[in-house]
Amino acid sequence: MSSWVPVPDGSDFPLENLPYGSFSRAGEAPRLGVAIGEQILDLGAVARAGLLDGTVDEPVTTLGAPVLNPLLAQDHAAWARLRARLGELLTAGAGAGSTAGHLVPQAEARMHLPFVPGDYVDFYSSIEHASTVGRIFRPDGDPLLPNWRWMPIAYHGRAGTVVVSGTPIRRPMGQRRPPPDETPPFGPTQRLDIELELGFVVGRATTLGEPIPVERAADHLFGVTLVNDWSARDIQNWEYQPLGPFLGKSFATSVGPWVVPMEALAPHRVAAREQDPPPLPHLRLSGEWALDVELRVDLAVDGGAPEEISAVNARGLYWSAPQQLAHLTSNGATIRPGDLLASGTISGPDPGQGGSLLERTWNGRDPLPLASGARRTFLEDGDTVTLRGWAGGEGTGRPRIGLGSCAGTITPAG
Ligand code: MN
Repeated sequence: MSSWVPVPDGSDFPLENLPYGSFSRAGEAPRLGVAIGEQILDLGAVARAGLLDGTVDEPVTTLGAPVLNPLLAQDHAAWARLRARLGELLTAGAGAGSTAGHLVPQAEARMHLPFVPGDYVDFYSSIEHASTVGRIFRPDGDPLLPNWRWMPIAYHGRAGTVVVSGTPIRRPMGQRRPPPDETPPFGPTQRLDIELELGFVVGRATTLGEPIPVERAADHLFGVTLVNDWSARDIQNWEYQPLGPFLGKSFATSVGPWVVPMEALAPHRVAAREQDPPPLPHLRLSGEWALDVELRVDLAVDGGAPEEISAVNARGLYWSAPQQLAHLTSNGATIRPGDLLASGTISGPDPGQGGSLLERTWNGRDPLPLASGARRTFLEDGDTVTLRGWAGGEGTGRPRIGLGSCAGTITPAG
């Protein structure tokens, strides 16, 4: 398949991807668009031209919105009809005459938060991440706590501080663990870290008291975006017992500007790793639900060039997104359109596959040497972290389904 819109080799955004975002040009209000090559198709404009009739309910209102939430409120059949129609309009030989006027160059666009997060839940679904963190903090115990293999462990995060890629991240203040019998210091975190994650954007509200069965969970999964769950390890370490992470996590969470439809990633679903013991019936899932998505972390320091510091594939995650959603609602809790379910830090078995600096430096014990000659344990002011992700592409014989990038630069504590 090819599009009449030029798609350069290696682009994240061929016709097979069509991720959704919210964009504006200078002086314009944010509005929804779909990425194709180096362009964005203005969805509201295409809807007003009558070209999306019969796809979603109220196409002009739904797609003329500044965020995805009205679309997320509809069902997966509507999402599929819209995606199919957009594919038709952008396929070579069709539609150029009617839609070419509604393309905006990405180079001219500023990207905004693509959805208003309803609730934000951060899971802990990588067994390598959970095990390594266990070894760092509990060297004499079992790396995994007894509950870990029975449920996707999670905490409720702060939806209101989810920000879009490019938003500066101010170094948070907080309390740190004091020496015995001393007063805890309050000041800028000294252990500012990243967490490389995938975020699943959820749609279609449920009714209080009615769980989503695991085999229906996929109907509520709209798409995937990159997530950097910035973490202040020293604040987290002092506050997290007994009720879990709080201010060490809530100061900011970055998401990518593009939400890639689950349907675009369908060809990249692979068999998940074996779960031992088998999950309880309400979490038992057939079908292939691991995502063969390559992930990278780039770090740029002192205004220098970005340098790759971590490389891992998401297919190794122990718990899948449908299992996370089934678990989240298994007590009858509802979901709302725009809820964000993050995977938790994604790490692999090798040291270079750690999705956090905590793991890459063994909690600061082993500084990372960088090509520039600099070394890092945790982040310093002025550092820029960029997450990237993609499925398929060069060498796979399949179109590249890119997630784009998710970046943030650390600014000094205020
Ligand atoms: Mn996290």
